[in-house]
Amino acid sequence: MSTTFRPIVGIDLGTTNSAVSYIHKGKPEIIPSPRKERIIPSVVLIDPQGHIVVGEDARAALVAMPDRTIAAVKRKMGSSERISIAGQALLPQEISALILKELKSYVDEKLGEGEKEAVITVPAYFTDEQRRATKQAGELAGFVVERIINEPTAAALAFGLRNKKKDGHVLVYDLGGGTFDVSLVEMMSGLMEVKASSGNNELGGEDFDWRLVDWFAEQIMAEQGIDPRNDIRAKALLKEEAERVKKGLSDDISVNVELPVVTMKEGAPVGLFTTVTRERFISLIDDLLEETMVCVQNVLRDAGLQKDDIDEILLVGGSTRIPRVYERIENFLGKQPRNDVNPDEAVALGAGVQAGLKSGALAKSGLVVTDVAPFSMGIAVLKEAGFTSRPGGFATIIPRNTTIPVTKTEQFHTVYPGQTAVQIEIYQGEHEWVKYNHKLGEFLLEGIPANMEQEEAINVTFRYNLNGILEVTASCVSTGEAMKVTIQDAINRDSEAAIAESVRAIEELYAQSKEAGDEEEEWELEELLADAEWDEDEDIPAEELQTEAERLLKQAERLRASAVGRTRRGWRE
Ligand code: AMP
Repeated sequence: MSTTFRPIVGIDLGTTNSAVSYIHKGKPEIIPSPRKERIIPSVVLIDPQGHIVVGEDARAALVAMPDRTIAAVKRKMGSSERISIAGQALLPQEISALILKELKSYVDEKLGEGEKEAVITVPAYFTDEQRRATKQAGELAGFVVERIINEPTAAALAFGLRNKKKDGHVLVYDLGGGTFDVSLVEMMSGLMEVKASSGNNELGGEDFDWRLVDWFAEQIMAEQGIDPRNDIRAKALLKEEAERVKKGLSDDISVNVELPVVTMKEGAPVGLFTTVTRERFISLIDDLLEETMVCVQNVLRDAGLQKDDIDEILLVGGSTRIPRVYERIENFLGKQPRNDVNPDEAVALGAGVQAGLKSGALAKSGLVVTDVAPFSMGIAVLKEAGFTSRPGGFATIIPRNTTIPVTKTEQFHTVYPGQTAVQIEIYQGEHEWVKYNHKLGEFLLEGIPANMEQEEAINVTFRYNLNGILEVTASCVSTGEAMKVTIQDAINRDSEAAIAESVRAIEELYAQSKEAGDEEEEWELEELLADAEWDEDEDIPAEELQTEAERLLKQAERLRASAVGRTRRGWRE
Protein backbone atom coordinates (compact mmCIF):
# COMPACT_ATOMS: atom_id res chain seq x y z
CA MET A 1 0.00 0.00 0.00
CA SER A 2 1.46 3.32 -0.94
CA THR A 3 0.90 6.43 1.11
CA THR A 4 0.38 9.75 -0.58
CA PHE A 5 1.26 12.93 1.20
CA ARG A 6 -0.27 16.34 0.76
CA PRO A 7 2.36 18.34 -1.02
CA ILE A 8 3.58 21.09 1.30
CA VAL A 9 6.28 23.36 -0.02
CA GLY A 10 8.92 25.35 1.83
CA ILE A 11 9.54 28.95 0.86
CA ASP A 12 12.38 31.33 1.63
CA LEU A 13 10.87 34.78 1.04
CA GLY A 14 14.10 36.76 1.14
CA THR A 15 14.88 40.46 1.03
CA THR A 16 16.99 39.99 -2.07
CA ASN A 17 16.15 36.54 -3.41
CA SER A 18 13.42 33.96 -2.92
CA ALA A 19 13.24 30.22 -3.51
CA VAL A 20 10.85 27.32 -3.05
CA SER A 21 11.51 23.66 -2.28
CA TYR A 22 9.69 20.39 -1.61
CA ILE A 23 10.61 16.92 -0.41
CA HIS A 24 11.45 14.50 -3.18
CA LYS A 25 12.66 10.98 -2.34
CA GLY A 26 13.35 11.90 1.25
CA LYS A 27 15.39 15.00 0.47
CA PRO A 28 14.57 18.69 0.04
CA GLU A 29 14.81 19.85 -3.56
CA ILE A 30 14.57 23.34 -5.02
CA ILE A 31 11.76 23.84 -7.56
CA PRO A 32 13.37 25.94 -10.28
CA SER A 33 11.68 28.51 -12.50
CA PRO A 34 10.83 27.50 -16.10
CA ARG A 35 14.10 29.23 -17.00
CA LYS A 36 15.89 26.88 -14.57
CA GLU A 37 16.68 29.59 -12.02
CA ARG A 38 16.97 28.06 -8.54
CA ILE A 39 16.54 31.39 -6.78
CA ILE A 40 14.84 34.48 -8.15
CA PRO A 41 15.37 38.12 -7.20
CA SER A 42 12.61 39.37 -4.89
CA VAL A 43 11.88 42.24 -7.25
CA VAL A 44 8.53 43.20 -8.79
CA LEU A 45 8.03 45.25 -11.96
CA ILE A 46 4.75 46.54 -13.34
CA ASP A 47 5.79 47.34 -16.88
CA PRO A 48 4.36 50.11 -19.06
CA GLN A 49 1.76 47.68 -20.49
CA GLY A 50 0.64 46.62 -17.03
CA HIS A 51 2.32 43.18 -17.02
CA ILE A 52 3.42 41.99 -13.62
CA VAL A 53 6.99 40.74 -13.91
CA VAL A 54 8.80 39.11 -10.98
CA GLY A 55 12.42 38.02 -10.71
CA GLU A 56 15.48 38.61 -12.87
CA ASP A 57 13.70 40.68 -15.55
CA ALA A 58 12.24 42.93 -12.87
CA ARG A 59 15.67 43.28 -11.27
CA ALA A 60 17.15 44.23 -14.64
CA ALA A 61 14.60 47.07 -14.89
CA LEU A 62 15.48 48.63 -11.52
CA VAL A 63 17.63 51.39 -13.01
CA ALA A 64 15.65 52.07 -16.18
CA MET A 65 12.25 52.07 -14.49
CA PRO A 66 12.79 52.89 -10.80
CA ASP A 67 9.20 54.08 -10.36
CA ARG A 68 7.80 50.83 -11.77
CA THR A 69 9.97 48.43 -9.76
CA ILE A 70 10.15 47.46 -6.10
CA ALA A 71 13.06 45.68 -4.44
CA ALA A 72 13.70 44.74 -0.81
CA VAL A 73 10.00 44.99 0.14
CA LYS A 74 10.70 42.60 3.02
CA ARG A 75 12.23 45.53 4.87
CA LYS A 76 8.80 47.18 4.93
CA MET A 77 6.82 44.09 5.98
CA GLY A 78 4.61 44.71 8.98
CA SER A 79 4.28 48.44 8.35
CA SER A 80 1.05 49.93 7.06
CA GLU A 81 2.96 52.25 4.76
CA ARG A 82 1.76 51.95 1.16
CA ILE A 83 4.45 51.66 -1.45
CA SER A 84 3.96 53.37 -4.76
CA ILE A 85 4.66 51.34 -7.87
CA ALA A 86 3.55 52.28 -11.38
CA GLY A 87 1.07 54.79 -9.99
CA GLN A 88 -0.52 52.34 -7.55
CA ALA A 89 -0.15 52.31 -3.79
CA LEU A 90 0.29 48.77 -2.48
CA LEU A 91 0.85 47.34 0.97
CA PRO A 92 4.14 45.48 1.57
CA GLN A 93 2.28 42.17 1.97
CA GLU A 94 0.52 42.73 -1.36
CA ILE A 95 3.85 43.18 -3.14
CA SER A 96 5.29 40.13 -1.33
CA ALA A 97 2.19 38.21 -2.47
CA LEU A 98 3.18 38.93 -6.09
CA ILE A 99 6.58 37.31 -5.44
CA LEU A 100 4.93 34.33 -3.76
CA LYS A 101 2.46 33.99 -6.65
CA GLU A 102 5.41 33.74 -9.02
CA LEU A 103 6.89 30.93 -6.88
CA LYS A 104 3.47 29.29 -6.72
CA SER A 105 3.36 29.20 -10.51
CA TYR A 106 6.60 27.10 -10.46
CA VAL A 107 5.05 24.81 -7.84
CA ASP A 108 1.83 24.41 -9.84
CA GLU A 109 3.81 23.56 -12.93
CA LYS A 110 5.88 20.97 -11.08
CA LEU A 111 3.29 19.43 -8.78
CA GLY A 112 0.07 20.23 -10.65
CA GLU A 113 -2.63 22.78 -9.99
CA GLY A 114 -4.66 22.67 -6.80
CA GLU A 115 -4.52 23.83 -3.24
CA LYS A 116 -0.99 24.13 -1.90
CA GLU A 117 0.18 24.40 1.64
CA ALA A 118 3.36 26.24 2.45
CA VAL A 119 5.89 26.72 5.20
CA ILE A 120 7.33 30.23 4.88
CA THR A 121 10.48 31.38 6.62
CA VAL A 122 11.01 34.71 8.39
CA PRO A 123 14.00 36.16 10.22
CA ALA A 124 14.01 34.91 13.81
CA TYR A 125 13.94 38.50 14.93
CA PHE A 126 10.78 39.37 12.97
CA THR A 127 8.12 40.97 15.14
CA ASP A 128 4.56 39.83 15.52
CA GLU A 129 3.26 42.22 12.85
CA GLN A 130 6.02 41.25 10.41
CA ARG A 131 5.13 37.56 10.85
CA ARG A 132 1.44 38.33 10.39
CA ALA A 133 2.16 40.30 7.24
CA THR A 134 4.20 37.37 5.88
CA LYS A 135 1.42 34.91 6.63
CA GLN A 136 -1.06 37.23 4.95
CA ALA A 137 1.19 37.56 1.88
CA GLY A 138 1.20 33.76 1.59
CA GLU A 139 -2.58 33.63 1.82
CA LEU A 140 -3.02 36.44 -0.70
CA ALA A 141 -0.81 34.44 -3.06
CA GLY A 142 -3.18 31.48 -2.75
CA PHE A 143 -1.23 29.28 -0.33
CA VAL A 144 -2.60 27.73 2.82
CA VAL A 145 0.13 28.88 5.19
CA GLU A 146 0.87 25.85 7.30
CA ARG A 147 3.66 27.34 9.36
CA ILE A 148 5.94 30.35 9.69
CA ILE A 149 9.42 29.27 10.81
CA ASN A 150 12.61 31.12 11.64
CA GLU A 151 15.26 31.28 8.94
CA PRO A 152 18.26 30.15 11.02
CA THR A 153 16.17 27.26 12.39
CA ALA A 154 15.35 26.26 8.82
CA ALA A 155 19.04 26.33 7.88
CA ALA A 156 19.83 24.18 10.93
CA LEU A 157 17.09 21.72 9.89
CA ALA A 158 18.58 21.30 6.42
CA PHE A 159 21.93 20.59 8.09
CA GLY A 160 20.29 18.33 10.68
CA LEU A 161 18.64 16.13 8.08
CA ARG A 162 22.02 15.50 6.45
CA ASN A 163 23.81 15.01 9.78
CA LYS A 164 21.32 13.15 11.95
CA LYS A 165 23.99 11.24 13.82
CA LYS A 166 25.89 14.36 14.79
CA ASP A 167 25.55 15.60 18.37
CA GLY A 168 26.75 18.98 19.56
CA HIS A 169 26.19 22.73 19.32
CA VAL A 170 25.65 24.43 15.98
CA LEU A 171 25.88 28.20 15.55
CA VAL A 172 23.89 29.51 12.57
CA TYR A 173 25.05 32.96 11.42
CA ASP A 174 22.53 34.25 8.87
CA LEU A 175 23.38 37.55 7.16
CA GLY A 176 21.14 38.16 4.17
CA GLY A 177 20.17 41.19 2.14
CA GLY A 178 18.15 42.96 4.79
CA THR A 179 18.27 41.09 8.06
CA PHE A 180 20.67 39.41 10.43
CA ASP A 181 19.96 36.47 12.74
CA VAL A 182 22.11 34.22 14.81
CA SER A 183 20.85 31.07 16.53
CA LEU A 184 22.45 28.47 18.71
CA VAL A 185 21.09 24.97 18.20
CA GLU A 186 21.79 21.86 20.21
CA MET A 187 21.63 18.60 18.28
CA MET A 188 21.08 15.31 20.05
CA SER A 189 20.19 12.15 18.11
CA GLY A 190 17.90 13.97 15.71
CA LEU A 191 16.43 16.25 18.37
CA MET A 192 17.26 19.83 17.46
CA GLU A 193 16.70 22.37 20.17
CA VAL A 194 17.20 26.07 19.52
CA LYS A 195 18.77 27.35 22.74
CA ALA A 196 18.97 31.07 21.94
CA SER A 197 18.44 33.51 19.09
CA SER A 198 19.43 37.10 18.53
CA GLY A 199 19.55 39.46 15.59
CA ASN A 200 18.71 42.73 13.93
CA ASN A 201 15.85 43.18 11.49
CA GLU A 202 17.49 46.15 9.86
CA LEU A 203 20.98 44.96 9.08
CA GLY A 204 22.12 43.23 5.92
CA GLY A 205 23.79 43.45 2.53
CA GLU A 206 21.50 46.32 1.51
CA ASP A 207 23.09 48.45 4.21
CA PHE A 208 26.55 47.62 2.88
CA ASP A 209 25.41 48.74 -0.59
CA TRP A 210 24.08 52.01 0.79
CA ARG A 211 27.32 52.65 2.67
CA LEU A 212 29.10 52.38 -0.69
CA VAL A 213 26.47 54.58 -2.39
CA ASP A 214 27.10 57.24 0.26
CA TRP A 215 30.84 56.98 -0.31
CA PHE A 216 30.35 57.35 -4.09
CA ALA A 217 28.03 60.30 -3.55
CA GLU A 218 30.55 62.02 -1.28
CA GLN A 219 33.18 61.74 -3.99
CA ILE A 220 30.85 63.24 -6.58
CA MET A 221 29.85 65.98 -4.17
CA ALA A 222 33.46 66.83 -3.42
CA GLU A 223 34.34 67.02 -7.12
CA GLN A 224 31.15 68.36 -8.68
CA GLY A 225 29.24 69.95 -5.84
CA ILE A 226 26.01 68.02 -6.47
CA ASP A 227 24.44 65.16 -4.59
CA PRO A 228 23.51 62.39 -7.07
CA ARG A 229 21.25 60.79 -4.46
CA ASN A 230 18.67 63.50 -5.21
CA ASP A 231 18.18 62.05 -8.70
CA ILE A 232 16.10 58.86 -8.44
CA ARG A 233 17.69 57.25 -11.49
CA ALA A 234 21.25 58.17 -10.44
CA LYS A 235 20.54 56.73 -7.00
CA ALA A 236 19.33 53.45 -8.53
CA LEU A 237 22.39 53.36 -10.80
CA LEU A 238 24.81 53.92 -7.90
CA LYS A 239 23.01 51.27 -5.84
CA GLU A 240 23.35 48.75 -8.66
CA GLU A 241 27.04 49.66 -9.04
CA ALA A 242 27.57 49.42 -5.27
CA GLU A 243 26.24 45.87 -5.23
CA ARG A 244 28.44 44.92 -8.17
CA VAL A 245 31.50 46.40 -6.45
CA LYS A 246 30.63 44.72 -3.14
CA LYS A 247 30.31 41.32 -4.78
CA GLY A 248 33.49 41.88 -6.78
CA LEU A 249 35.36 42.60 -3.57
CA SER A 250 34.45 39.15 -2.29
CA ASP A 251 36.79 37.77 -4.99
CA ASP A 252 39.26 40.58 -5.70
CA ILE A 253 41.11 43.00 -3.47
CA SER A 254 40.09 46.05 -5.52
CA VAL A 255 37.34 46.88 -8.00
CA ASN A 256 37.22 49.78 -10.47
CA VAL A 257 34.21 52.01 -10.97
CA GLU A 258 33.82 53.55 -14.42
CA LEU A 259 30.52 55.31 -14.82
CA PRO A 260 30.60 58.02 -17.51
CA VAL A 261 27.07 59.27 -16.74
CA VAL A 262 25.70 59.11 -13.22
CA THR A 263 23.63 62.27 -13.40
CA MET A 264 23.54 65.63 -15.19
CA LYS A 265 24.72 69.04 -14.09
CA GLU A 266 23.92 72.12 -16.15
CA GLY A 267 23.47 70.01 -19.27
CA ALA A 268 26.73 68.13 -18.84
CA PRO A 269 27.10 64.54 -17.66
CA VAL A 270 28.57 63.88 -14.23
CA GLY A 271 30.43 60.59 -14.01
CA LEU A 272 32.32 58.60 -11.42
CA PHE A 273 35.74 57.02 -11.94
CA THR A 274 37.32 55.52 -8.87
CA THR A 275 38.77 52.37 -7.33
CA VAL A 276 37.37 50.68 -4.24
CA THR A 277 39.78 48.53 -2.28
CA ARG A 278 38.70 45.72 0.02
CA GLU A 279 40.27 47.67 2.86
CA ARG A 280 38.13 50.72 2.09
CA PHE A 281 35.01 48.56 1.92
CA ILE A 282 35.83 46.96 5.27
CA SER A 283 36.29 50.40 6.83
CA LEU A 284 32.81 51.34 5.53
CA ILE A 285 31.01 48.31 6.97
CA ASP A 286 33.06 47.07 9.92
CA ASP A 287 30.91 48.79 12.55
CA LEU A 288 27.89 46.88 11.17
CA LEU A 289 29.79 43.60 11.31
CA GLU A 290 30.77 44.43 14.88
CA GLU A 291 27.04 44.64 15.71
CA THR A 292 26.58 41.12 14.39
CA MET A 293 29.44 39.87 16.56
CA VAL A 294 27.81 41.40 19.64
CA CYS A 295 24.72 39.31 18.82
CA VAL A 296 26.93 36.21 18.57
CA GLN A 297 28.27 36.96 22.05
CA ASN A 298 24.72 37.45 23.31
CA VAL A 299 23.50 34.05 22.12
CA LEU A 300 26.51 32.35 23.69
CA ARG A 301 25.77 34.11 26.98
CA ASP A 302 22.02 33.38 26.80
CA ALA A 303 22.67 29.71 26.07
CA GLY A 304 25.22 29.55 28.91
CA LEU A 305 27.95 28.35 26.55
CA GLN A 306 31.59 29.20 25.89
CA LYS A 307 33.17 29.70 22.47
CA ASP A 308 34.81 26.27 22.76
CA ASP A 309 31.42 24.61 23.12
CA ILE A 310 30.54 25.41 19.50
CA ASP A 311 31.08 22.35 17.32
CA GLU A 312 29.85 23.61 13.95
CA ILE A 313 29.36 27.03 12.38
CA LEU A 314 26.92 27.40 9.47
CA LEU A 315 27.11 30.55 7.36
CA VAL A 316 23.81 31.34 5.65
CA GLY A 317 22.67 34.29 3.51
CA GLY A 318 24.40 35.89 0.53
CA SER A 319 26.30 38.43 2.61
CA THR A 320 28.33 35.70 4.34
CA ARG A 321 30.32 35.50 1.08
CA ILE A 322 32.13 38.65 2.19
CA PRO A 323 35.59 37.40 3.26
CA ARG A 324 35.65 39.81 6.22
CA VAL A 325 32.55 38.10 7.66
CA TYR A 326 34.22 34.70 7.56
CA GLU A 327 37.41 36.16 9.00
CA ARG A 328 35.69 37.85 11.94
CA ILE A 329 33.77 34.73 12.91
CA GLU A 330 36.79 32.50 12.57
CA ASN A 331 38.88 34.89 14.68
CA PHE A 332 36.20 35.20 17.34
CA LEU A 333 35.23 31.55 17.69
CA GLY A 334 38.65 30.10 16.85
CA LYS A 335 37.04 27.64 14.43
CA GLN A 336 36.42 27.56 10.69
CA PRO A 337 32.83 27.72 9.52
CA ARG A 338 31.67 24.79 7.38
CA ASN A 339 32.17 25.22 3.67
CA ASP A 340 29.55 22.74 2.46
CA VAL A 341 26.50 24.95 3.05
CA ASN A 342 25.00 26.79 0.09
CA PRO A 343 24.30 30.21 1.62
CA ASP A 344 21.57 31.00 -0.92
CA GLU A 345 19.62 27.76 -0.69
CA ALA A 346 20.02 26.50 2.89
CA VAL A 347 16.96 28.37 4.21
CA ALA A 348 14.64 27.31 1.37
CA LEU A 349 15.81 23.69 1.69
CA GLY A 350 15.26 23.83 5.46
CA ALA A 351 11.75 25.21 4.90
CA GLY A 352 11.22 22.16 2.68
CA VAL A 353 12.40 19.89 5.50
CA GLN A 354 9.91 21.50 7.89
CA ALA A 355 7.22 21.06 5.21
CA GLY A 356 8.21 17.38 4.94
CA LEU A 357 7.95 16.95 8.71
CA LYS A 358 4.44 18.46 8.56
CA SER A 359 3.23 16.51 5.54
CA GLY A 360 4.58 13.20 6.75
CA ALA A 361 7.04 12.86 3.87
CA LEU A 362 9.87 12.92 6.42
CA ALA A 363 7.98 11.18 9.22
CA LYS A 364 10.59 8.43 9.39
CA SER A 365 13.53 10.83 9.66
CA GLY A 366 13.29 10.99 13.44
CA LEU A 367 14.03 14.71 13.23
CA VAL A 368 12.33 16.90 15.84
CA VAL A 369 12.92 20.60 16.22
CA THR A 370 11.99 23.05 18.96
CA ASP A 371 12.39 26.80 18.67
CA VAL A 372 12.43 29.80 20.99
CA ALA A 373 10.89 33.26 21.25
CA PRO A 374 13.89 35.47 20.45
CA PHE A 375 12.67 38.48 22.49
CA SER A 376 10.89 39.08 25.78
CA MET A 377 7.20 40.01 25.74
CA GLY A 378 5.19 41.70 28.45
CA ILE A 379 3.01 44.65 29.38
CA ALA A 380 3.36 48.24 30.64
CA VAL A 381 2.97 48.66 34.40
CA LEU A 382 3.48 51.23 37.13
CA LYS A 383 7.05 50.84 38.22
CA GLU A 384 8.77 51.98 41.37
CA ALA A 385 11.40 54.57 40.62
CA GLY A 386 13.06 56.00 43.73
CA PHE A 387 10.32 57.09 46.17
CA THR A 388 7.54 57.23 43.57
CA SER A 389 5.88 54.97 41.03
CA ARG A 390 6.03 55.88 37.37
CA PRO A 391 3.96 54.54 34.48
CA GLY A 392 5.75 52.89 31.60
CA GLY A 393 7.67 50.14 33.37
CA PHE A 394 8.02 46.84 31.51
CA ALA A 395 6.76 43.67 33.22
CA THR A 396 8.03 40.63 31.34
CA ILE A 397 5.53 37.78 30.92
CA ILE A 398 7.44 35.60 28.43
CA PRO A 399 11.23 35.97 28.84
CA ARG A 400 13.35 35.83 25.69
CA ASN A 401 14.62 32.42 24.56
CA THR A 402 11.65 30.60 26.13
CA THR A 403 10.91 27.44 24.15
CA ILE A 404 7.75 27.76 22.06
CA PRO A 405 4.82 27.20 21.98
CA VAL A 406 4.35 28.74 25.41
CA THR A 407 1.50 29.99 27.56
CA LYS A 408 2.20 32.10 30.64
CA THR A 409 -0.04 33.96 33.04
CA GLU A 410 0.91 36.76 35.44
CA GLN A 411 -1.31 38.51 37.93
CA PHE A 412 -1.55 42.31 38.20
CA HIS A 413 -3.65 44.63 40.40
CA THR A 414 -5.63 47.82 40.14
CA VAL A 415 -3.62 50.86 41.19
CA TYR A 416 -6.13 53.45 42.38
CA PRO A 417 -9.39 53.40 44.40
CA GLY A 418 -12.54 52.93 42.31
CA GLN A 419 -10.60 51.81 39.21
CA THR A 420 -12.99 50.01 36.84
CA ALA A 421 -10.83 49.59 33.73
CA VAL A 422 -7.24 48.79 32.84
CA GLN A 423 -5.39 49.55 29.64
CA ILE A 424 -3.31 46.53 28.65
CA GLU A 425 -0.35 47.73 26.56
CA ILE A 426 1.69 44.90 25.04
CA TYR A 427 5.39 45.25 24.20
CA GLN A 428 8.36 43.18 23.13
CA GLY A 429 11.94 44.01 24.01
CA GLU A 430 14.51 43.82 26.74
CA HIS A 431 14.42 47.27 28.37
CA GLU A 432 12.91 47.87 31.81
CA TRP A 433 11.04 50.92 30.41
CA VAL A 434 8.53 50.29 27.64
CA LYS A 435 9.36 53.43 25.70
CA TYR A 436 12.60 51.72 24.62
CA ASN A 437 10.76 48.56 23.55
CA HIS A 438 8.53 47.78 20.59
CA LYS A 439 4.78 48.19 21.03
CA LEU A 440 2.70 45.32 19.70
CA GLY A 441 -0.78 46.55 20.58
CA GLU A 442 -3.14 47.54 23.36
CA PHE A 443 -6.69 47.02 24.56
CA LEU A 444 -8.97 48.08 27.38
CA LEU A 445 -10.34 45.66 29.98
CA GLU A 446 -13.50 47.18 31.47
CA GLY A 447 -16.12 46.11 33.99
CA ILE A 448 -13.82 45.74 36.97
CA PRO A 449 -15.84 46.26 40.21
CA ALA A 450 -14.97 49.58 41.89
CA ASN A 451 -12.88 48.73 44.93
CA MET A 452 -9.82 49.88 46.86
CA GLU A 453 -6.49 49.98 45.03
CA GLN A 454 -4.66 46.64 44.87
CA GLU A 455 -7.90 44.81 45.71
CA GLU A 456 -8.93 43.73 42.23
CA ALA A 457 -6.66 41.21 40.54
CA ILE A 458 -6.25 40.91 36.77
CA ASN A 459 -4.77 37.83 35.14
CA VAL A 460 -2.90 38.48 31.93
CA THR A 461 -2.15 35.42 29.77
CA PHE A 462 0.28 35.41 26.84
CA ARG A 463 0.03 32.56 24.38
CA TYR A 464 2.90 32.52 21.85
CA ASN A 465 2.36 29.89 19.17
CA LEU A 466 4.70 27.93 16.89
CA ASN A 467 4.40 30.61 14.21
CA GLY A 468 5.68 33.20 16.66
CA ILE A 469 2.29 34.88 16.80
CA LEU A 470 0.98 36.19 20.08
CA GLU A 471 -2.48 36.04 21.63
CA VAL A 472 -3.21 37.92 24.84
CA THR A 473 -6.06 37.40 27.28
CA ALA A 474 -6.84 39.57 30.29
CA SER A 475 -9.47 38.67 32.84
CA CYS A 476 -10.80 40.17 36.02
CA VAL A 477 -10.35 37.50 38.72
CA SER A 478 -13.34 38.50 40.88
CA THR A 479 -15.89 38.55 38.03
CA GLY A 480 -14.27 36.00 35.72
CA GLU A 481 -14.88 38.42 32.80
CA ALA A 482 -12.23 37.95 30.13
CA MET A 483 -11.12 39.75 27.00
CA LYS A 484 -9.00 38.08 24.40
CA VAL A 485 -7.15 39.70 21.54
CA THR A 486 -4.67 38.61 18.97
CA ILE A 487 -2.33 41.50 18.62
CA GLN A 488 -3.17 42.23 15.06
CA ASP A 489 -6.87 42.43 15.86
CA ALA A 490 -5.95 45.01 18.43
CA ILE A 491 -4.36 47.19 15.80
CA ASN A 492 -7.00 46.19 13.27
CA ARG A 493 -4.73 45.25 10.43
CA ASP A 494 -5.99 41.90 9.37
CA SER A 495 -9.64 42.69 9.66
CA GLU A 496 -11.78 40.92 7.05
CA ALA A 497 -12.37 44.19 5.26
CA ALA A 498 -8.64 44.92 5.01
CA ILE A 499 -7.94 41.46 3.60
CA ALA A 500 -10.81 41.69 1.13
CA GLU A 501 -9.39 45.01 -0.05
CA SER A 502 -5.94 43.42 -0.58
CA VAL A 503 -7.47 40.52 -2.49
CA ARG A 504 -9.31 43.00 -4.71
CA ALA A 505 -6.14 45.09 -5.31
CA ILE A 506 -4.20 42.00 -6.39
CA GLU A 507 -6.98 40.66 -8.60
CA GLU A 508 -7.16 44.01 -10.33
CA LEU A 509 -3.41 44.02 -10.96
CA TYR A 510 -3.60 40.56 -12.50
CA ALA A 511 -6.62 41.51 -14.58
CA GLN A 512 -4.59 44.40 -16.03
CA SER A 513 -1.62 42.12 -16.53
CA LYS A 514 -3.75 39.58 -18.34
CA GLU A 515 -5.36 42.22 -20.55
CA ALA A 516 -1.92 43.43 -21.54
CA GLY A 517 -0.92 39.85 -22.28
CA ASP A 518 -4.08 39.04 -24.28
CA GLU A 519 -3.53 41.92 -26.61
CA GLU A 520 -0.11 40.40 -27.34
CA GLU A 521 1.18 43.91 -27.69
CA GLU A 522 4.67 44.24 -28.93
CA TRP A 523 6.90 46.13 -26.59
CA GLU A 524 6.82 49.81 -27.27
CA LEU A 525 10.51 50.40 -27.22
CA GLU A 526 10.04 54.13 -27.74
CA GLU A 527 7.92 54.21 -24.66
CA LEU A 528 10.53 52.38 -22.64
CA LEU A 529 13.25 54.66 -23.92
CA ALA A 530 11.12 57.75 -23.33
CA ASP A 531 10.59 56.54 -19.82
CA ALA A 532 14.28 56.03 -19.27
CA GLU A 533 15.60 58.93 -21.32
CA TRP A 534 17.35 61.93 -19.90
CA ASP A 535 15.79 65.35 -20.19
CA GLU A 536 15.58 66.34 -23.83
CA ASP A 537 17.18 69.68 -23.17
CA GLU A 538 20.18 68.01 -21.71
CA ASP A 539 23.23 67.88 -23.87
CA ILE A 540 24.70 64.38 -23.65
CA PRO A 541 27.68 63.23 -25.74
CA ALA A 542 26.57 60.98 -28.59
CA GLU A 543 28.59 57.92 -27.57
CA GLU A 544 27.17 57.98 -24.04
CA LEU A 545 23.65 58.14 -25.38
CA GLN A 546 24.54 55.27 -27.67
CA THR A 547 25.80 53.13 -24.74
CA GLU A 548 22.75 53.97 -22.67
CA ALA A 549 20.46 53.18 -25.63
CA GLU A 550 22.20 49.86 -26.23
CA ARG A 551 21.83 48.91 -22.60
CA LEU A 552 18.14 49.79 -22.66
CA LEU A 553 17.68 47.93 -25.93
CA LYS A 554 19.14 44.78 -24.40
CA GLN A 555 16.93 45.22 -21.40
CA ALA A 556 13.85 45.72 -23.54
CA GLU A 557 14.74 42.57 -25.49
CA ARG A 558 14.95 40.57 -22.29
CA LEU A 559 11.67 41.99 -21.05
CA ARG A 560 9.94 41.31 -24.36
CA ALA A 561 11.06 37.69 -24.26
CA SER A 562 9.77 37.35 -20.75
CA ALA A 563 6.39 38.97 -21.40
CA VAL A 564 5.68 36.71 -24.34
CA GLY A 565 6.90 33.59 -22.55
CA ARG A 566 4.71 34.26 -19.60
CA THR A 567 1.62 34.97 -21.69
CA ARG A 568 2.08 31.82 -23.72
CA ARG A 569 2.18 29.53 -20.80
CA GLY A 570 -0.98 31.17 -19.48
CA TRP A 571 0.85 32.85 -16.71
CA ARG A 572 -2.18 34.09 -14.79
CA GLU A 573 -5.84 33.48 -14.92
P1 AMP B 1 20.04 36.73 0.68
O1 AMP B 1 19.05 37.65 1.35
O2 AMP B 1 20.49 35.63 1.53
O3 AMP B 1 19.61 36.30 -0.70
O4 AMP B 1 21.36 37.59 0.47
C1 AMP B 1 21.41 38.59 -0.48
C2 AMP B 1 22.52 39.56 -0.14
O5 AMP B 1 23.76 38.91 -0.33
C3 AMP B 1 22.48 40.77 -1.04
O6 AMP B 1 22.71 41.95 -0.30
C4 AMP B 1 23.64 40.49 -1.99
O7 AMP B 1 24.20 41.68 -2.50
C5 AMP B 1 24.60 39.76 -1.08
N1 AMP B 1 25.57 38.97 -1.81
C6 AMP B 1 25.34 38.00 -2.73
N2 AMP B 1 26.50 37.54 -3.23
C7 AMP B 1 27.50 38.22 -2.61
C8 AMP B 1 28.93 38.21 -2.71
N3 AMP B 1 29.57 37.40 -3.55
N4 AMP B 1 29.61 39.05 -1.91
C9 AMP B 1 28.98 39.90 -1.07
N5 AMP B 1 27.64 39.97 -0.95
C10 AMP B 1 26.90 39.14 -1.71
